[in-house]
Amino acid sequence: MEESVKKNIELFKNTLKNHVCESDWSLYLKEMEVESLSDQEIFLGFKNGFAKDQVDGNPKLKESINEVIESLFNESLKVHFTLLKKDSIKAEESIEKKITASEKTASLKTQKQDIFDLKLNPRYTFENFIMGENNNFGASLAQAVVKNPGKNYNPVLFFGGVGLGKTHLLQAIGNEITKNDAEKKIIYINASDFVEEFVRGILSIKEKKNHDLSMKFKQKYRSADVLLIDDIQFLQGKEQSQEEFFLIFNKLYDSNKQMVFTCDRPISELNNFADRLKNRFTRGTTADLQPPKYETRLAILRHNLLLKQKENPKVKIPDNVLEYLAKNIVSNVRDLEGSLSTLMGYSDLIGTEIDMDLAKKTIQISLANVNQNGITLENIADKISSFYGLSIKDLKSKKRSAQVTTARQICMYLSRKLTDFSHTEIGNFYEKDHSTVIHSEKQIKEKIKMDPSLEQIINNFKAQLK
Ligand code: ADP
Ligand code: MG
Repeated sequence: MEESVKKNIELFKNTLKNHVCESDWSLYLKEMEVESLSDQEIFLGFKNGFAKDQVDGNPKLKESINEVIESLFNESLKVHFTLLKKDSIKAEESIEKKITASEKTASLKTQKQDIFDLKLNPRYTFENFIMGENNNFGASLAQAVVKNPGKNYNPVLFFGGVGLGKTHLLQAIGNEITKNDAEKKIIYINASDFVEEFVRGILSIKEKKNHDLSMKFKQKYRSADVLLIDDIQFLQGKEQSQEEFFLIFNKLYDSNKQMVFTCDRPISELNNFADRLKNRFTRGTTADLQPPKYETRLAILRHNLLLKQKENPKVKIPDNVLEYLAKNIVSNVRDLEGSLSTLMGYSDLIGTEIDMDLAKKTIQISLANVNQNGITLENIADKISSFYGLSIKDLKSKKRSAQVTTARQICMYLSRKLTDFSHTEIGNFYEKDHSTVIHSEKQIKEKIKMDPSLEQIINNFKAQLK
C-alpha cells in the first residue's frame, strides 16, 4: 500500500473515532480495517460477522461513516463491508499468542468481571452442601450437570420454598464448573436483575441513544457456555423479558449450552408466564427441594459450626444445644443458620459460654416474631402427646387411629394458635403436608363448636403451655 494511502486510512479511522459514540467504536469499529481504497470504492473489513452486521444494519452508523469518507476524500466512495480475510486475522492471532500467560489471565479476569460479572459466593460449594433425603436428588443432579455441562440434563430446574438451598446449589454448579474450566463463560444472574438489564437495553434504543446496551445484552447471553438464572418467578408478567429469554433459551439449547434455573414454585404454577416457555422446561429435568428433616438439620448445624470454628477456633457449642436448635427450627436452612449466628453473637455480647440456658433465651429472641411466649412446637407436641399417653414419634408417624389423629389435630391447632409458625412449618415438624395442618385446624374448630368439653381440654392445655 502506498504511504499516502496508508496515511489517509489512518486519518479516516481517527476521524471516524471522533464521529461515532464510544461504545460503537470500541465494540465494532476499532478493529475494523480498510482492506482497500480506490477512487471509487472503499472496502471495510471486519474480524467477525457480528460486528459487520451491527454496522451494516445500523443506518445511523453507516451515515456517519459516509460523512467521514465524504469529508476526507471529497467525494462519495462506494462503501463495502466485508469480512477480513483469514490471513490478516491469523497475523493478529499470532501476536495474541505472544502475550504472556499472566497478561492473558489478567485480561480474562477483567473481561469476566466486566462483561460477565460472575458474582458467585465461594462458600456455595458441594462440600458445604449437606445432603439428606430432602435434597438428595437435587444435589446429585447438580453434580451430574457439572460432570457434563450441556449434555445430559438441559435445562435443569430447582424449585422449592425460601431458604432451602436453591441458590446454593445453583452457584455451586457455577463454582465447580469454573474450577474445572476457567475459560467457560458462565453467567449467573438473578431473574430480577436480568429483567432490569434487559429493560435498560430496550430504553437505550427507545431513547435513540444507540443499540449498544441492547446489543451487548443479546450478545452476552447468547454467548454463554453456562447460563444460571436464579428465581425465575420474577419473570412472571414481564412479557418482553420473557420473549428475550425465550430466544436466548432456544439459542443456547440448540448449541447444547447448559442452562440451570431456580424457581420458588413448580413451573406449572407460574402465572403470566408464556405457555411456550413453560413447555420448554418439560424438555429438561426438575428437582424439588424440601425442608430438611431433623437429622439433616443437625448435620447442617454441625457443619456450620465447623466452618465457624475454622474462622474462630474458640467457638464452642455443646451438642445438646445443637440438638435443641435442630429440633425447634424447622422452617428452613436459612433460619437454622441464623439461629447459630444469633446464639454466637449473644454469647459474645454478654460474655458467657454457650449452653442450654442461653440457647433457650436466644431462640426466643431470634424467633420472637414467629414464636410468641417462647412456646415451641416441641413443647406443644410434648404436652399433648403425654396427656394422651402417646409419644411425639406417634404424632409424626402415619398412624391414623382415632386417638392419634385427635391428638395430632389438637397439636396442629394449638401450634397455629400459640405460635406464629406457618402451616408449612408446622407440617414440616409433624412430617406432614401443609394441607394436613389446614385440615386439622378446621376439624378442631368444628369439633369445639359441637363439644364444649373439648374446648375446656384445649383451654387447659393453653394455660399449661403459657
Ligand atoms: P434459597 O435460594 O432456596 O432461598 P439459599 O440457597 O439461599 O436458599 O440457602 C439459604 C442458606 O442456607 C444459605 O446460606 C445456604 O448456604 C444454606 N443451605 C441451604 N441448604 C443447605 C444444605 N443442604 N446444606 C448446607 N447449607 C445449606
Ligand atoms: Mg435463592
